[in-house]
Amino acid sequence: MAEAGVLLAFAERLGGVSVGPYASLNLAGHVGDDPRAVDENRERLLDALGLGRLRGRLTTAEQVHGDGTAVIGEGDTLPGSGAFADNTRTTGVPPVPRTDALLVSAPEIPVLLCFADCVPIILVVTEDDAPAGPAAGVVHAGWAGALAGLPGLAARRLAQLSGCDPSRIRAYVGAHIGPCHYQVSAEIISQFVNTFGTVARAESGGLDLGAAVSASLTDAGVDPCSITSLGTCTAEATDRFFSYRAEGGLTGRHGAVVCILPG
Ligand SMILES: [Zn+2]
Repeated sequence: MAEAGVLLAFAERLGGVSVGPYASLNLAGHVGDDPRAVDENRERLLDALGLGRLRGRLTTAEQVHGDGTAVIGEGDTLPGSGAFADNTRTTGVPPVPRTDALLVSAPEIPVLLCFADCVPIILVVTEDDAPAGPAAGVVHAGWAGALAGLPGLAARRLAQLSGCDPSRIRAYVGAHIGPCHYQVSAEIISQFVNTFGTVARAESGGLDLGAAVSASLTDAGVDPCSITSLGTCTAEATDRFFSYRAEGGLTGRHGAVVCILPG
C-alpha cells in the first residue's frame, strides 16, 4: 500500500530463508535464529518493497512491552539503528533501546518492528494533512503496551511531530492474536475493562486486544473511521503468521514496516 509518499507493509512469514520454527521470513534477531538468515530475510523484504537501496538505514528497536516511544533523528536515535542482526555487518548502532513505538518524519528511513501475536499498528499522517510534512510510525502493542495506552501515546506524539491534529492520523492494524485464542487472567481482563470498557472483553471471555488498541487510539483523538484492521487471528493462521502462543513460544517474528518516500 502506498499513499501520498508513505509506504507501509505488513509482512507474512513466507518467502524467507529461515528454517525450523523460524520458517521462513523471520525478521527478528533475538529469537535464536541464524542472524545471517535474518539479514537475508530483511533484505528480501526491503527488495520486495522497492527499498533495497535503504538496507543500511533500516531502523529497528529493542522491544520490551513497555510504553516508550522514540522519534528517529531526535536525540541519539539514529537511522540504521539495529539494521543488521549479524554482528559482523553491524552499522555500529544497536537497535533503539527499550522502545515499542518508532516514529519518523524524515524520508528514506525504513522502520521495522517485529511481532508474533502482539498487535502491529502503523500510523500515518500524509502530506495533505500535515503542515510540517508527512510522518509515520510503527507500534508494537501486546497486552501490557495496550493497557499502558501506548497506541494513543504514539498517536499523540506523531500528531505533534507532524503539526496536525490526531484526527488526521490514519491507523492500520495488522494481524494479531484474536480474542478467540487469547485467554488471560481475570485480573488482567478486569484491568482492561476498567481502562477501556467492556469492549475489551469478548463474548468468549477472551481479551480483545484489537478493541483495546482502537479504544486507546480514539481516546487520543484518532477518528474511528480512520482505523483499518486486517482482522486475522495469528493463532489460527500459523501458515501465514508466527504465533508465540500457538507455537509454544519457539517461533519467528513477522514484521510491520513504514517508510516515508521522498517528495
Ligand atoms: Zn483465534
